[in-house]
Amino acid sequence: MFCLLCQNPIENKLTFLSIVLLKNNSQIICSRCRRSFEIISSEHCPSCFKNHCSQKCKDCLYWEEKGITVCHEALFTYNQAMKDYFNRYKFQGDYVLRKVFAAAIKAHLRPYRAYSIIPVPLSKERYEKRKFNQVKALLEAADISYIDLLIREGSEQQSSKSKQERLQVNLGFKLKKYDQYPDKVLLVDDIYTTGATLQSIKALFYENGIKNVKTFSLAR
Ligand SMILES: [Zn+2]
Ligand SMILES: [Zn+2]
Repeated sequence: MFCLLCQNPIENKLTFLSIVLLKNNSQIICSRCRRSFEIISSEHCPSCFKNHCSQKCKDCLYWEEKGITVCHEALFTYNQAMKDYFNRYKFQGDYVLRKVFAAAIKAHLRPYRAYSIIPVPLSKERYEKRKFNQVKALLEAADISYIDLLIREGSEQQSSKSKQERLQVNLGFKLKKYDQYPDKVLLVDDIYTTGATLQSIKALFYENGIKNVKTFSLAR
């Protein structure tokens, strides 16, 4: 086996315990690559998991002012290793990398069985370029079923805008027409930066009577 990220060989130590527990021993990335990712510490913003922030962060206070209660969880910090990962996975379109965090995502979302999992969609334009939705692919790799409840119109050219502009922009999300919307929703994205994407969708859910909305991202 070779590491999906650095291509170095992975040592698979079959221990007695792993055989007894029939644990899937095939590692996807090597221990060196695994260590380059930073798990969010126990000291994080209580509302959005921003690392090393023991009180509600500025972003969360901003959303609260707008009437949105932030209730977000994330697994990793958006450090250099994570930036490199997303660069390869999203922008170079290395689809196989959807598997890297599958086990971590699956374990984290296990308590959300009663929730409908809703991935953030891509615009048509972005989807045609990338050929896959990176959030759905993360969920599929983790074997988590989801509902495709949202449509995105317009484009996601956010990075050229200032934070302030991004927060004000109507991001063009719409709900598909369903007879009945789920009452508990876990909205999933890949990266949480200011929260603009997830919180504007949350506002849309509120408008449509979906009151119990939590959000999750792989990185924060
Ligand atoms: Zn590696
Ligand atoms: Zn926060």
